[in-house]
Amino acid sequence: MEKSAKSSGSLSCLRGENSSSMDASQPISVPASKTDELSLLAASSGNLSSSTSPQPTAGKRSSKDFIFGRVIGEGSFSTVYLAKDIHTSKELAIKVCDKRHVIREKKAEYIKREKEVLNMLSVNFKATAPFFVKLYCTFQDPDRLYFTLTYAKNGELLPYITRVGCFDIDCTRFYSAEILQALEHMHSLGIIHRDLKPENILLNEEMHILITDFGSSKILNATHRGQDVENEERAVRRRNSFVGTAQYVSPELLTDKSASPASDLWALGCIIYQMVAGVTPFHAGSEYMIFQKILKLDYICPDGFSPSAKDLVDKLLVLESSNRLGACDKEGYPSIKSHPFYQGMDFETLHQQTPPVISPYLPGTSSHEELRSNSRRRCGIPDNLEPGLDDQQLTRLLGLDLKEPTIHSITKTESPPPVQEKSKSKISIFLNMSDEELKQKLEEQKSTSKWHPFVQGNLILKQGLIDKRKGLFARRRMLLLTMGPHLYYVDPNNMVLKGEIPWSSSLRVEVRSFKIFLVHTPNRVYYLEDPDGYALEWCKAIEEVRKEAYGHEP
Ligand code: ATP
Repeated sequence: MEKSAKSSGSLSCLRGENSSSMDASQPISVPASKTDELSLLAASSGNLSSSTSPQPTAGKRSSKDFIFGRVIGEGSFSTVYLAKDIHTSKELAIKVCDKRHVIREKKAEYIKREKEVLNMLSVNFKATAPFFVKLYCTFQDPDRLYFTLTYAKNGELLPYITRVGCFDIDCTRFYSAEILQALEHMHSLGIIHRDLKPENILLNEEMHILITDFGSSKILNATHRGQDVENEERAVRRRNSFVGTAQYVSPELLTDKSASPASDLWALGCIIYQMVAGVTPFHAGSEYMIFQKILKLDYICPDGFSPSAKDLVDKLLVLESSNRLGACDKEGYPSIKSHPFYQGMDFETLHQQTPPVISPYLPGTSSHEELRSNSRRRCGIPDNLEPGLDDQQLTRLLGLDLKEPTIHSITKTESPPPVQEKSKSKISIFLNMSDEELKQKLEEQKSTSKWHPFVQGNLILKQGLIDKRKGLFARRRMLLLTMGPHLYYVDPNNMVLKGEIPWSSSLRVEVRSFKIFLVHTPNRVYYLEDPDGYALEWCKAIEEVRKEAYGHEP
């Protein structure tokens, strides 16, 4: 377990004289006066010596102390690299900010704030709330600033929600509890995050959270920085803009541009909603419309939203910030922690608990257990089976052979659809056509099919109305399987192309019932329901096209 980080007296690894291998080859093109501010920023801190610090001594550091690996991510004025400390072999994330870019984008204040907050959190490390990216050391060369940070091996939380559609109750409880535990600690230090969202919540190797991106934070009661905060807020008022991200921004930030710790509790309410429902509570086509919805508190919890989660969300998403659950708590957030949603949750040991496996939450269709697909089980298909969905495989599937819900067992209440004409042969016919025949078919499609404009000139192999589920919401779509291959989906009411399920050699289909089938892609599981009950036909067709395009093994 990590121990408390102590501030070293000598926070001096970041001085202007530091250099790196890049110095010699790259001209210093930022005027000295401009870089003063950034150099001061760098010099004001440096190594945060602690028992957990990756460097053996708190001396000067430079980029030569690290082996830089792949780019993990890019921000608007920074690039984050995976790096290895050559002294300890520890893996780290190093955020590299280009000074010219920082100055051009007027982000010096943002970077200072981020560093100050990360320092505060490292120095005030709390063993029962180790849920923050840790700043080990900062240094610079003439062109760049470097932040060495804990490497969050599992990336951002957002893709995990996107991938499964929405979290089940265990996951929502666990991850929101970790966020709450982190907020409690941050707020006790007088830090308001102001941009809390799943993109800023990273996951470490054990799948515990690490909150990051403190550039928009506000430090309360910091008299030495009070002026900065005031200036910044005045500037924000003048610009009529806001700090944060539209979907998670609290009403008080929109109206009087003021934030309190309760603004982060609002964001927590939005995140809990998102984990349960799969989308943010206030979503719309434009920022303006999102703001209107926020100010009118215009959100609904769809069918299937867990009642205790709804009660908690309703108590956090309250327009008047002082009326939010927890806002009046004197120390910590006992009133939130004692909400029935967290019944039995031991907040103090969260960091030692094994996080639940991320699974989707679909209680709105709880009579359809088949909708659940456990990502741990490689989506429920044993490895020792032949790929493909030929007659033999279908017989196996229907033969109750699998150690998981089978089509027969999970659809007791559903009657199978009438036997359809063999669509495999229909797809095969298309796939085996000569170029001339394909051209002819395409001409026919052009003049007869109203779906032709959406498929980028590709021949449609199969089409049909399906319900595409995202979290607790389902939308009717026209699904178009085409040569290419492509899987387009179109809003049939407004005749608008809504998107495309991305094909790759790893795309796989999973049939869960006569009506329900899943399409697995690396970043998302698509939950699709054929109201007419031809899920098997869809899977068969998609699998045939996949085989044709990519060969046998998915
Ligand atoms: P912006 O600066 O525009 O607000 P940002 O905050 O996402 O964007 P960075 O902090 O530079 O910018 O991060 C860029 C990307 O790198 C992020 O998408 C994040 O997923 C990834 N990243 C940042 N820090 C770490 C880390 N410590 N471990 C793993 N990945 C990280």
